[in-house]
Amino acid sequence: MIDLKHKIEEYRRTFNEDIVRVKDEKSLQEIRNFYLSRKRGCVTLLFDQLKELTSEERPEVGRYLNELKDYIQAELQNFKQELSRPEEPSKRVDLTLPGRKKYWGAPHPILLFQQEIENIFLGMGFSIEEGPEIETDYYNFEALNFPPHHPARDDWDTLYINDDLLLRTHTSPVQIRVMEKRKPPIRIIIPGKVFRKETPDPTHLPMFFQVEGLVVDHGITFAHLKGNLEHFLRRLFSEKIKIRFRPSFFPFTEPSAEVDIECTVCRGKDKECRVCGGGGWIEILGAGMVDPQVFKNVNIDPERYSGFAFGLGVDRTAMFAYHIPDMRFFYENDLRFIRQFSLK
Ligand SMILES: [Zn+2]
Repeated sequence: MIDLKHKIEEYRRTFNEDIVRVKDEKSLQEIRNFYLSRKRGCVTLLFDQLKELTSEERPEVGRYLNELKDYIQAELQNFKQELSRPEEPSKRVDLTLPGRKKYWGAPHPILLFQQEIENIFLGMGFSIEEGPEIETDYYNFEALNFPPHHPARDDWDTLYINDDLLLRTHTSPVQIRVMEKRKPPIRIIIPGKVFRKETPDPTHLPMFFQVEGLVVDHGITFAHLKGNLEHFLRRLFSEKIKIRFRPSFFPFTEPSAEVDIECTVCRGKDKECRVCGGGGWIEILGAGMVDPQVFKNVNIDPERYSGFAFGLGVDRTAMFAYHIPDMRFFYENDLRFIRQFSLK
């Protein structure tokens, strides 16, 4: 039944495309024959297929089909009248007018940037994983070593749906889901939307995109983490970009680091730079060695395996890469802004 309904919709769509191309009586007749010819018309033939439906389904689909037939007949009649009407002078085509350009849709700049990130990691042998945007407290926090009432939870302003369900605040729960299903070696990135209870301002949004990564295998060390992330940042920004690692804290990694790059706007030369606050560095990534407790939560033996994880905000990084002062520009849907990216 779904199939037949789908076909009815499909014919309505193609008919609408065909009818606007009608130029004369002949092409109008061709369209009539194609859809409604008594023996071979594609809509006529659908009536035969009604027989194959159950008696409960038949009336509803039959009604849809009759509506389509009536619609086609009425439209054909309209266009016929239109064709027979003598052309008014005002309707004549003025060949001196400039042409009207059609606007084509294009991927959003954030999606394009995310694909750039994905391509770098795919080239390094990572694969892409995805997971649900509505998560349980367990996957979003507990399995990642945030026990209930742990103060670190306060850093993640969470939008709860009920006591147990929430909008994921990071893509990290997918790391847990993958480790539960699969044994090492694991080398994945996880792109996706995340949500936090934030008031939008130039550097915060309640919904944004993240890409996280996870590598688990025998003998993975901090040197692997550093090498991978430095390679990634050089490919994304430039070979010469300055990078630094700072000690930090995340409940799910130990030791943890934040990764900064030199300010892409002032290169550390403007003491009043609005992007880096005059410090010359901007924070790009959070990273660290996976905490043994996280491995225990998913039954991976931390004595045998080690790994590293990292994450970055796509919108935030795009802002630095394109020198955009306000992250909200990405979502205001001003075509003058957005088109600059699809032209690339
Ligand atoms: Zn700066």
